[in-house]
Amino acid sequence: MTSTNELVKKFIDGFASNNDIAVLKQIYVTTCSLVDDRIVMLNIAEVPKRQHPFSIAHEIAHIVGHDVYFDGVAGYITESDADYYAVKLLYDYCRSINLKFNSTLDFITQVGIPTRCFNIAEVVLHPEQKLVLILFSRYSKDSWIVKAHP
Ligand SMILES: [Zn+2]
Repeated sequence: MTSTNELVKKFIDGFASNNDIAVLKQIYVTTCSLVDDRIVMLNIAEVPKRQHPFSIAHEIAHIVGHDVYFDGVAGYITESDADYYAVKLLYDYCRSINLKFNSTLDFITQVGIPTRCFNIAEVVLHPEQKLVLILFSRYSKDSWIVKAHP
């Protein structure tokens, strides 16, 4: 059976190509995005293999976000915006193929999302949860998501 990590890898490779973005796997420069050239530079020596789909999604966010918002005001999107975009993109894909997860930890483990994004994943998986969390995302209509403490 194909693992969740392999499924999201195929998905994100297709998503990149559908958005006219090339992914270069290399070992010479740190993982980054060349926004104007629409190239993701994935450093396979520094990023664990299981984390490739997430890292590519994160870098895609910088490119796609730039498409939409580079108007002299917003410019490049922030690191946490890119993390949010990546987690949401991967989770929405998992939902679209009916994958279920026992917990947020199960989700990030199966998909290959770094633990620094646990709180972002909590918000993506459980938007109804009553946590004090403030996330900014230019991708959601309600750009400030503020949850009240119980
Ligand atoms: Zn980034």
